[in-house]
Amino acid sequence: MNDNDNPYTFAESSPFSWIRGRQVGGRSIMWGRQVYRWSDLDFEANLRDGHGTDWPIRYADIAPWYDYVERFVGVSGQAENLRQLPDGVFLPPMSLNCVESAVRDRLGARFGRERVLTIGRCAILTQDHGGRAACHYCGPCERGCITGSYFSSLSSTLPAAQRTDRLTLRPDSVVAEVVYDAATGRARGVRVIDANTGEDFEVRARLVFLCASALESTRILLNSRSARWPDGLANSSGELGRNLMDHCMGGGAAGRIEGFDDHATFGRRPNGIYVPRFRNVSTVTPGFERGYAFQGGASRSGWGRGSSQPGFGAEFKASLMRPGPWSMSFYGFGECLPRPWNFVAIDADKRDRWGIPALRIQCAWSDNERAILKDASLTAAEMLEAAGAKDIEPYIEDNPPGLTIHEMGTARMGRDPRSSVLNAWNQAWDVPNLFVTDGACMASSANQNPSITYMALTARAVAHAVELTKRNEL
Ligand SMILES: Cc1cc2nc3c(=O)[nH]c(=O)nc-3n(C[C@H](O)[C@H](O)[C@H](O)COP(=O)(O)OP(=O)(O)OC[C@H]3O[C@@H](n4cnc5c(N)ncnc54)[C@H](O)[C@@H]3O)c2cc1C
Ligand code: SF4
Repeated sequence: MNDNDNPYTFAESSPFSWIRGRQVGGRSIMWGRQVYRWSDLDFEANLRDGHGTDWPIRYADIAPWYDYVERFVGVSGQAENLRQLPDGVFLPPMSLNCVESAVRDRLGARFGRERVLTIGRCAILTQDHGGRAACHYCGPCERGCITGSYFSSLSSTLPAAQRTDRLTLRPDSVVAEVVYDAATGRARGVRVIDANTGEDFEVRARLVFLCASALESTRILLNSRSARWPDGLANSSGELGRNLMDHCMGGGAAGRIEGFDDHATFGRRPNGIYVPRFRNVSTVTPGFERGYAFQGGASRSGWGRGSSQPGFGAEFKASLMRPGPWSMSFYGFGECLPRPWNFVAIDADKRDRWGIPALRIQCAWSDNERAILKDASLTAAEMLEAAGAKDIEPYIEDNPPGLTIHEMGTARMGRDPRSSVLNAWNQAWDVPNLFVTDGACMASSANQNPSITYMALTARAVAHAVELTKRNEL
């Protein structure tokens, strides 16, 4: 995607990295495929500590839809029976390597079931599933997967939609706004600009689902202005654009693990480890609210260590062929609190290549996110120490919001139309045939990678809309 064609603005003092994927398949072809369910610890968090607004749903409402999505997508993982990270419908887990297994055991000896190291739960097949082949551990997933072993819209949902013979796919179609019909009080469809010819036309629809990614969906709504909706469509609450979140990331530590130099890995496992949240779970952690989880893993250094190792010539090259020491790392991803002063709005002075007004983004971390990253670096070092690691190096990165690529919020779900944009079914309170089911709908961020939750909410909202339609209530 070309950022020059798709500009956005922010104040120099509070940068935001908005990483997008403007192509058929969106960012599902680029994502890391880590998928973790939320629990009631997350759905009840806003109510419990007063940040944001209460979620209109609880885990029981979404659990069957996680099942539904996982069955379709194919998720490999290890059941751990943890209250804060519900198990799912899993394909067989990938294996921990020898060092990760040893670290799991050593953490278990020190922390019991409070801090559990498990293999990452990921939307990558460990056995053939739904006409797609199991992963063969070749490694360069970022170049795409010819066997369709990781979930993407291109390998999975679009082919399924195509098989219905009822799919019309129109690439290079830029939605400029949702068209509102004041006479009926409903969305009439969308106004589209052909990205190549500039042709401006309308597509009519009985139901409109916005899934253009969190901030793009909100941008479309903010740009859908009319006499009835001068501040953006479905914005009677004034909440549209507010409560932008992204996970804070980069509190962690790494260390060297001795005693396994006679072991090496085979193949390139496209997955790491996960340590689910353990702060503010069963006891209160002083210093910050909510929590964080770790991703990471153990590996041996290889060719890449050349720049950090002295040497010259043939012997130097030969030495790099031999695997280097084992290292283990924990990298934290923390929850971001919903705050109304983190927001997006239309920038009156900036337009994209097609003349559509661009977004201005205002977002900054609070002391809570900073405290989370600090704690993550300390507990990561503590766990490495418990695992017997040497040369432990804790760190705290200074990443801008957006860089975690888990941006969410800005059209939140809620219980009250006066303080939220969407109801418990992702349906706009103000426009009954309009649904927003991407990350925009999120009322809080939890610390888990969010996409599986967007998918489950989408499937749930679609089923509801179909049901209402069949009953002629929509
Ligand atoms: C490198 C990377 C790693 C990631 N790792 C993970 C991970 O491990 N786990 C996880 O849960 N998430 C991860 N994510 C985040 C994940 O990719 C997103 O949360 C997810 O793709 C969001 O899905 P979406 O459909 O809402 O948006 P997108 O995937 O961004 O898709 C939006 C679609 O809408 C289209 N669109 C946008 N605007 C318009 C418009 N105006 N008109 C018409 N079409 C439009 C786009 O072209 C695109 O096709 C990662 C992302 C990246 C980039
Ligand atoms: S490693 Fe990645 S690219 Fe290779 S088969 Fe597995 S999912 Fe596909």
